[in-house]
Amino acid sequence: MNIDDTIVAVSSPPGASVRGIVRLSGPQAFDIVSRLFSSDGRSEDLDEAAPRYLSGCLSLGSCRLPAAVYQFPSPRSYTRQDVVEIHLLGAPGILALLIEACLASGARRAEPGEFTARAYLAGALDLTQVHGIAGMIAAGSDLQLQAAERLLHGGLSQTADAAREELADLLSLVEGALDFADEPIDFIQATELCRRLKSVLKALASTRAAGLRVERWGRLPHVLLAGAPNAGKSSLLNRLSGMDRAICAPVAWTTRDVLSAPVALGEMDCLLLDVAGLGDATGEVEAKARLAASRAVNQADLVLHVVDASAPALDADTATAPRQGVPVIVVANKIDRMAEQQRAVVVRRITAKTCATVCAASAKTGEGCDALKVTIQQQLSDRPASAQDQAIALVAEHSEALREAIAALERTIAMAEPCTDSLDHADLVAAELHAAADALGVLVGQDQTEDMLGRIFARFCVGK
Ligand code: GDP
Repeated sequence: MNIDDTIVAVSSPPGASVRGIVRLSGPQAFDIVSRLFSSDGRSEDLDEAAPRYLSGCLSLGSCRLPAAVYQFPSPRSYTRQDVVEIHLLGAPGILALLIEACLASGARRAEPGEFTARAYLAGALDLTQVHGIAGMIAAGSDLQLQAAERLLHGGLSQTADAAREELADLLSLVEGALDFADEPIDFIQATELCRRLKSVLKALASTRAAGLRVERWGRLPHVLLAGAPNAGKSSLLNRLSGMDRAICAPVAWTTRDVLSAPVALGEMDCLLLDVAGLGDATGEVEAKARLAASRAVNQADLVLHVVDASAPALDADTATAPRQGVPVIVVANKIDRMAEQQRAVVVRRITAKTCATVCAASAKTGEGCDALKVTIQQQLSDRPASAQDQAIALVAEHSEALREAIAALERTIAMAEPCTDSLDHADLVAAELHAAADALGVLVGQDQTEDMLGRIFARFCVGK
């Protein structure tokens, strides 16, 4: 990434508005603007190194337009380079003319996130803060904004740093025991190790539980229909969305592609997805369908596991209901085929078996479907109150790093817990502790490859 030239972009939101902002960063920024802008002479600050505000006129071709210019001399700017912001009428045509004029004077069009990348490369921001800024741009609710702010202000780095420090301390004790295995020194008792590891594990697990995934912001929550062929998934998609979106037939594997339809839940909307219910089916089309289905599963915020409540194979169907890390509602479908009493028995049976929330419904008659929508909305907006207070924005890499660290700590505890006093397999314990500490490195921005940096900044919009 070249950071020695001068970049330019519109940094106000797309579309027409009262005020638009064009931003430049780089060594030529002041020079380029001085060719297009004539100040009316009023400057509020005479200190050369201080940010300056100038009002005046922009000359764009034959047009002269009133504008305000904010100059931020290096290093007191967002990117730590010379930065200029030109504030003018936010008409898309005028902003485009100004960009063209800047390009003609030697600027280059900025890539997405390039201003923030320059700030990062100049050491003004660490990577976690970069993600926090991206989160604040993407936030669509107060909760999301708070979560992004918590990330921006170091919430995640603090948790990771504290955990890494404790792990480094424990590692020194475990490795000490290895290095001086012949000496009668007790570096750390297994019970003490377990106690301290559990406390680290608790902190990491609660951070993960309070995490809101930034990638999911700004899009409708995805609700995935799952269940055996013929359970009634396509019928439910049509019923809940009010559209004839899916073909329904008493033939297994009618759905091959991922079908989706928006569903209005009342206070919020969601996107309902129906994927191929393939069972053990083989073949090229089925393999492709399976791949598309597994992608949809990974993106799901909630799973509706549909079972045919009237079928004798009900128990076998519900057995596949739980799905790791994603909340599940079991929909006991086709209740129109059953008597009132029988329905209650089936709901109790499924609840006992799955521990999931169970909703009885009929995709055919629509019975129970309004209640199902209410339950979906509750599940999508539901988070424990404690998690709401601590909500923190996480990107996929953070979530994965926390998962890896938690898994390594759980393995370590499983090894240490059976030991009565001194630690057996100290070498394996040390290896797991290293794995946990390494995973946490991602949370404090260590070990980022250039490729990963490129992907991080590509998530931003141009002008940020
Ligand atoms: P999918 O394979 O899970 O998508 O199932 P479909 O939606 O294609 O439904 C399979 C068969 O069950 C079709 O013949 C539907 O008409 C029927 N069906 C679906 N839902 C209901 C329901 O609530 N009641 C009854 N009686 N039949 C249903």
